[in-house]
Amino acid sequence: MSRYMCRTAPAIVPDNMWKLKLVGLLVVVTFDAISHLRVGHTIVAAAPIGEQHLQKPSSHKANIDSTKQHQPGTCISAINMNDENKFPFLDEIRSKFAHQPTFLQSVEEMALALDPLFNDPEKGEFYKKAFVLMAEPERVIAFRVPWMDDRGEMRFNRGWRVEFNSALGPYKGGLRFHPTVNEGVLKFLGFEQIFKNALTGLPLGGGKGGSDFDPKGKSDGEVRRFCESFMTELYRYLHPSTDVPAGDIGVGGREIGYLYGQYKRLTNKHGEGVLTGKSLLFGGSPFRPEATGFGLVYISKIAIEKQLGKSLNGARCAISGSGNVAQYAAKKLTEFGARVITVSDSNGCLVFDDGMTDEDWKTVIEAKQTKRARLYSIENDVSGKYVPKESPWTLEGIKYDYVFPCATQNEIDGEAASHLIENGVKGVFEGANLPTTLGGQEVIRKHGVLYIPGKASNAGGVGVSGFEMSQNAQRLQWKPDDVDKKLQDMMASIFDQMVCSSGGGTLEEGANRAGFLKVVQAMKELGSVY
Ligand code: NAP
Repeated sequence: MSRYMCRTAPAIVPDNMWKLKLVGLLVVVTFDAISHLRVGHTIVAAAPIGEQHLQKPSSHKANIDSTKQHQPGTCISAINMNDENKFPFLDEIRSKFAHQPTFLQSVEEMALALDPLFNDPEKGEFYKKAFVLMAEPERVIAFRVPWMDDRGEMRFNRGWRVEFNSALGPYKGGLRFHPTVNEGVLKFLGFEQIFKNALTGLPLGGGKGGSDFDPKGKSDGEVRRFCESFMTELYRYLHPSTDVPAGDIGVGGREIGYLYGQYKRLTNKHGEGVLTGKSLLFGGSPFRPEATGFGLVYISKIAIEKQLGKSLNGARCAISGSGNVAQYAAKKLTEFGARVITVSDSNGCLVFDDGMTDEDWKTVIEAKQTKRARLYSIENDVSGKYVPKESPWTLEGIKYDYVFPCATQNEIDGEAASHLIENGVKGVFEGANLPTTLGGQEVIRKHGVLYIPGKASNAGGVGVSGFEMSQNAQRLQWKPDDVDKKLQDMMASIFDQMVCSSGGGTLEEGANRAGFLKVVQAMKELGSVY
């Protein structure tokens, strides 16, 4: 048992846990119904800030409806709809932010895991008060991002930075450029980030930002002009001790380079760790691009070996997405002898019955990192077959051992989870943030499938971002092997914290409690909550 575990876990999980878990179970049984209620609507990107206009979903199953939304004005809270008395202290949040359903989903998921703490006779009321305070970002910055397209036309998008919680350190969390981005989505991501960052053991607060700009189909010049304009607004809020963004969906090495270039021009400062995920040529960390995917596989391997007594060697592993996280998860799984049977994008899936070969992996990397191409365009260059309009979670006639959702939020709902279970899945390890709906989680839990939530399993990315900040402060670059070793140690420590704080419950409960307790203690010592 690590030193860290022993300091984190004691005395926080009441011993009447089993009763509380029973109540929790009764509550979560209702979630599937709710996730079905939410199916059927997607956000129109051009909606006004904070509002969402709804339209019928496309029939493309591959394009995961990552913004499954409710009708405005209706109750979206699973707990509220099905158990009026559950967490009444969250009622104000529910009504105030009914237009931010994904944010509420993450708050309620967290609340369920913390239920035993809320029922603690001594500290329960304090924890509730702290939780409600934590659900309010310290600061939300919203701004206009004008840019010029290749025809010389003026265009503009919306940009945000949600500086959620700085109890443990400077705000840290990625920037997402995707048409589905709005303030609610960024609040959900920022909220998750607070607890994820706490699990890394590094002094990092939580934040998230981005824009509803869609880099897909844009020229390099358009992306550059957009990034420059975005940073022209954002730079005034950044500092190594204040707020340090990184990448996320739609923001990779190219975008970070353009953003950092503009920061440098505006401030005449170089070498400051105000962005992570930078090129190795100007202050990046070895293994930062690989960190999220590698970290995901490191922690999954530990969990599979320790909790199931099985091995990744020869296991059939399905991955969704083919972006940064998916690419390096695929690489590390293959290195560990697993068979990677799928990768996907929003148009469809590549299916490799016998597992992806090293040559296949290189072809995907070239398509995605260099050519910025769709997976269907490389069908003839890989050993697998292309299945259009499907996600890896809807494919027929496929057997799974372990699945790694690495695309986006709300990929696996109750129906998809049942499909996975019918086809043999034994473990779900989240590379993306909140890819499993509450309904999906309930099905997984009911069938005793091993499950690690994104806030623990994808924390390797922000962990190595933290290492990048340290290297920048030292004006040094660490050796790749040292970074990889530190990443492995961090993922092992996160696994230990989950087990230690679970009180005999699930790893997910353990992750949520360990993260929450660390942040709440820091807030208390800082005098932010009393
Ligand atoms: P990325 O490089 O932009 O790749 C995203 C991948 O997911 C692409 O293949 C994309 O396909 C697919 N995708 C996105 N939205 C989709 C949708 N609605 N339906 C189907 N496919 C969709 O992003 P990433 O950095 O890998 O991030 C993926 C997930 O990991 C996100 O949830 C992110 O928050 C999380 N995460 C990332 C990091 C990190 O270090 N990058 C760290 C922690 C967590 P298309 O190209 O067709 O859109």
